[in-house]
Amino acid sequence: MLVRKFLFAHGYRHRLHDKKLPGKPDIVLPKYKTVIFVHGCFWHGHTNCKYYVVPKTRTDWCLNKINSNIANDTKAITALKKEGWKIIAIWECKLKPARVEKTLPALLKKLS
Ligand SMILES: [Zn+2]
Repeated sequence: MLVRKFLFAHGYRHRLHDKKLPGKPDIVLPKYKTVIFVHGCFWHGHTNCKYYVVPKTRTDWCLNKINSNIANDTKAITALKKEGWKIIAIWECKLKPARVEKTLPALLKKLS
């Protein structure tokens, strides 16, 4: 994964998918007490995003799934904050080739 390689290249050591943490964050940086979630725009309901388009078929099923994902995200973030973690969420659309060059340096800034 892009974000992982980038962090590694910049000397950030991390763990992946820590199952002990709420919401199983995609990347965990214990040294910085920071977790990173990479959210798929569709399944996590990225508002005002061109990749979040509610489908015309199985609409209810999709919306239920998306809403439950969002609820789980919110719950996990609340729990992690309580434990003193800093949370960074990255939307998948920000990792597309046209935008990734801005997204990754911005991420480094958040970490430092
Ligand atoms: Zn998006």
